[in-house]
Amino acid sequence: MENFEFVSPTHFVFGKDAELQVGTKLAERGARKVLLHFGGKSALASGLIDRVKESLEAQGIEHVTLGGVRPNPEITLVREGVALCKQHEVDWVLAVGGGSVVDSAKAIAVGARYEGDVWDFFESKRLTNDVLPIAVVLTIPAAGSEASKNTVVSNDALQMKTGYANNAQRPKLAFMNPELTFTLPPFQTAAGCTDMFCHLLERFFDDVGAVPVTDNLCLSLMKTVRAEAPRVLADPDNYDARANVMWAGMLCHQGLAGVGRHEDWATHGLEHELSALYPEITHGAGLAVMFPAWMEFVYDANPARFAYYGREVFGLAPTGDAASDALSAIDETRSFFASLGMPTTLDELGVEEADIDKLIPTLKENKGEPFGSFKKLSMDDAKAIYRIAFA
Ligand code: NAP
Ligand code: FE
Repeated sequence: MENFEFVSPTHFVFGKDAELQVGTKLAERGARKVLLHFGGKSALASGLIDRVKESLEAQGIEHVTLGGVRPNPEITLVREGVALCKQHEVDWVLAVGGGSVVDSAKAIAVGARYEGDVWDFFESKRLTNDVLPIAVVLTIPAAGSEASKNTVVSNDALQMKTGYANNAQRPKLAFMNPELTFTLPPFQTAAGCTDMFCHLLERFFDDVGAVPVTDNLCLSLMKTVRAEAPRVLADPDNYDARANVMWAGMLCHQGLAGVGRHEDWATHGLEHELSALYPEITHGAGLAVMFPAWMEFVYDANPARFAYYGREVFGLAPTGDAASDALSAIDETRSFFASLGMPTTLDELGVEEADIDKLIPTLKENKGEPFGSFKKLSMDDAKAIYRIAFA
């Protein structure tokens, strides 16, 4: 097991009506003025924003609002949020939405106490502890950003989508009411389940040998997502299925499922380039295409690891040939994502094959070369993986 540090400061309020406690929990922590940050329309249309405002007002907490976060959030709105925080001397950032809103809120919280341009942190990866505290009301289980140390933001002018990791931006409060997710369209539910499953794949496949305490946690979460995702899709108002998926989404990415390992993250890197160039691509759908392609390219570095995954998660019987077992596990992975309604090729996502070359320079800038851990990848390997994803 590799050395590790693990920080998890998030206080979770989970269950029905959780969002009604926003005001009291923030007041207990001394909040006086929050930036209330949200997305395009779902949280406004459902009345959630009004309920959250009432909860704040009942405690005398002032709020400044900034809506309009798009999926694959963009730096321009982040900059607006930073300016509002400075102008109004905001002391907490409250995100109401999914990963895109939470990531935008994290970037705002980092930029709010900095004199320069917040994009500097995405370029330099410099750590700072001078970050406004963040609270989250989660509306879609997927990214796990409600407890993770990461934010991912696009910069359209640079055609980049880049991550920034810092334990200081882990949310301090997360309100998780599974009933808020009943309104999710099936495609978003499925893309969310795919993303959380992929957060485990990124951790399970690396160049470290077995770490049973971590591996078993990872495998148990994979089995849970595999069982619960079809249940929520078949029965969207099933509270228990929604609750299991919501809590799983957090556990898949808050970090415990990867401690003691190196983790890989090549495939998220490959997907981020796609959704930078094509902002209409949903992150989970991009991963559904890229993960099986990555797997086909790398499995020969350690087929036994793939065979083990196939046995544990999909119940595949061993054939005595690890390579053949590995290929079966990859087929099962692709079929699982397809069974949720996810695409299987880049064609289906509307990507032009001629655009592969455009993805490489920013991939190299973001990930360096070589990148990944399970198998070290060059930029030529990245091109080959994109090509597999067209097949
Ligand atoms: P999202 O982009 O936040 O939301 C996806 C869509 O779902 C939006 O159109 C949103 O519409 C809608 N929606 C959200 N909640 C809803 C509800 N309850 N009912 C109906 N519609 C709802 O989704 P996400 O998958 O959570 O976040 C994706 C982003 O997170 C990507 O940029 C990805 O790269 C990033 N990510 C971050 C991390 C991390 O650690 N920080 C990890 C993985 C991925 P409205 O705008 O109308 O609300
Ligand atoms: Fe992700």
